[in-house]
Amino acid sequence: MKNMFFPLVILLAICFTACKKSAEGPDAPQTEYDNAQKVRAYIRDLGFPDSEVVEKENEFIAEGDISFPKNMEVPSGKVKTEQFYTGSLVSAANVVNIRLKVDASMTSMNSEISSAIAQWNAISGCSINWTIVTGSSYDVLIVDSNLGSGVCGSGTFPSGGRAGSTIRINKAYIAGNSFAQRARTICHEMGHNVSFRHTNWSSIGESSATSVPGVGGTDASSLMNGGQCGSGATVLSTKDKQAAQVLYP
Ligand SMILES: [Zn+2]
Repeated sequence: MKNMFFPLVILLAICFTACKKSAEGPDAPQTEYDNAQKVRAYIRDLGFPDSEVVEKENEFIAEGDISFPKNMEVPSGKVKTEQFYTGSLVSAANVVNIRLKVDASMTSMNSEISSAIAQWNAISGCSINWTIVTGSSYDVLIVDSNLGSGVCGSGTFPSGGRAGSTIRINKAYIAGNSFAQRARTICHEMGHNVSFRHTNWSSIGESSATSVPGVGGTDASSLMNGGQCGSGATVLSTKDKQAAQVLYP
């Protein structure tokens, strides 16, 4: 009797442990949390000061308008910190045809979007080429979004060799700006989606950034200066174009 009882206890114990384990299911929340922590570390590696990073429910926002989704794919390897770009570029194959889909919420600014695209596509000796697509296959979605007062829009850095997936425009907020300023906002966010950072990083408080080779220093006329919602440069500056040529020859 004794000899039969003990194996039964052990069997029950094994079953209980196994059943308990499977009942817990996949630990998705922990994985999401871990990835968000990786994203947070990536932002720090890029040199953005903690004071310039705000955490939201599903993303971190750096310097007011650069979105890092918490579920983004974090580039592997040590990050190179650069003045004008993240070190994570759009691949040569993808940059020649960046497919932009205009969400229905943004079609009222089609003219501004076309103007912004024309600026990037006109840079000589640079392979950046944006096209508007209407189908279900696209690389970047531009969409209206209420980002609160003081924020014109937000962009997303590239990852995995693809342009950042989203551009959000605070349409109601910029509606009162001039056409040139509305187009500037779109052109500026498009710059983030191909890896451009804020040219005026130093005055914003970043300390670890270095230059795109041959294109360093400050540039008051850069369209990629940050914190100039509604008042910044409306055309890509000579240095903006030089940086684009170096990054995407
Ligand atoms: Zn910006």
